[in-house]
Amino acid sequence: MALLEIVTAPDPVLRKKAEKVREYNKELEKLVLDMAETMYAAPGIGLAANQCGVLKQVAVVDISPPDKPKNLLVLINPEIVQRDEQQDQMEEGCLSLPEFRQVVSRPSRIKVCAKNLKGETQEIIAEGLLARAIQHEMDHLNGKLLLDYASSIKREFYLRKRKKLLRKK
Ligand code: ZN
Repeated sequence: MALLEIVTAPDPVLRKKAEKVREYNKELEKLVLDMAETMYAAPGIGLAANQCGVLKQVAVVDISPPDKPKNLLVLINPEIVQRDEQQDQMEEGCLSLPEFRQVVSRPSRIKVCAKNLKGETQEIIAEGLLARAIQHEMDHLNGKLLLDYASSIKREFYLRKRKKLLRKK
């Protein structure tokens, strides 16, 4: 296993749509294991393949607190098949957007269909923080970022600051 480099804004790969996984092989298994290790090391509660520079519909999520046993959820080609009408608001952060926070409204409960590492279909009913984390990662797979939920002023201010910082490095 290896730690992957987490891509940060404004890298264009974060704006691209990930492609569906069609082959369930050792390469995919390695990607998932490396992504999980990278997420735990960050630490974060979710990571999408785009954030590692790989345009495949793969995401890992684990919302369990650091002192509790791990509970890794692997999502391959995920699709939301049902959404609650009720929405929750919560502030989110993103490993690809250092120091950026944004309050986002999302359905509080969702039903997701996704493949596991063997290519088997799994159905997940998620609510609360888990539902939120899954929706955040699925946004990534569609090239969408937390920035898109912010006002244009806040978004442009942040991106200008990022570009300035990256030029200095
Ligand atoms: Zn993110």
